[in-house]
Amino acid sequence: MALKLAHFPAVKELAGFDFEAQPSIDPKQIRDLAASRWIANGENVLLLGPRGVGKTHLSIALGREAILAGYTVQFTTATTLVAGLAKAHGERRLDEKLLALSKPKLLIVDELGYLPLEPDAAHLFFQLVSRRYETGAMLITSNRSVAEWGTVFADAVVATAILDRLLHHSHVLTIRGDSYRLRAKRKSGLIKTPTAGDGPPVGSASLRPVTDGNNLQPRS
Ligand code: ADP
Ligand code: MG
Repeated sequence: MALKLAHFPAVKELAGFDFEAQPSIDPKQIRDLAASRWIANGENVLLLGPRGVGKTHLSIALGREAILAGYTVQFTTATTLVAGLAKAHGERRLDEKLLALSKPKLLIVDELGYLPLEPDAAHLFFQLVSRRYETGAMLITSNRSVAEWGTVFADAVVATAILDRLLHHSHVLTIRGDSYRLRAKRKSGLIKTPTAGDGPPVGSASLRPVTDGNNLQPRS
C-alpha cells in the first residue's frame, strides 16, 4: 500500500545495485543511508551525476528502504513537481499544495536539471524547500552540479537560497563514470559475436551511418 502511494516509476532495490560497477559510490555510505536515520532527522540527500549512472535506481531503492522503516515517501520528478506547484499557484491554492507536499517524511525529486523549468520554478521550489526545511527529508537527483543550479533555476539568487537550506543538513553524493547500460552493452559486445536472427548485435553502434560515431566528419 505505502509502496503504491509512493508512485515509484519502477521496481528497483539496493540488492539489485552493482556496486562494483560503480566505484565512485561508497557502498558503506549507501548502506548507512538505507538505515533511514537521515529521514528521521529531516536531512537531505543529493545524488549528482551524468545520465545512466544509477541515480534513479538508488533513489527508488532508498525510498523503498524508508517505506520498510515505516516512513511515508512520495516520488516525483522536478518537472512534474514544479508544474504542479505552478498550476496550484495559478489556481490560488498554492498553500494547500505546499501543505500536501510537506506531508511525506521523504520527498524524492528526480531529474532536476534535465528539462527546462517553468519561469516561476525557482520561487515555487524555494517555498517548498523552506516548508520542508528541517522537518521533512528530501532526496534530489540531478545531472547538474550544484554550481550549475543557478542556470537550472534561471535565477542565481533564489538558487543560492534553495541550496543554502538544502545543503545545511545534507549528504551529497557525486557519481562519476559511464552510463551503466552503455557500459554493459559495450562489455557484452566484446565477448559476444552476433549470429543471424539474433536481432541487432549488442553494441550496434557499428550499424549507424559512418558520420555518427568515431568517424567524425569535419564541420564547415
Ligand atoms: P540515472 O537516473 O542516473 O540516469 P538510472 O538509475 O535510471 O540512471 O540507471 C539506468 C539503468 O541502469 C536502470 O535500469 C538502472 O537500474 C541500471 N543501473 C544503473 N547503475 C546500476 C548499477 N550500478 N547496478 C545495477 N543497475 C544499474
Ligand atoms: Mg534518472
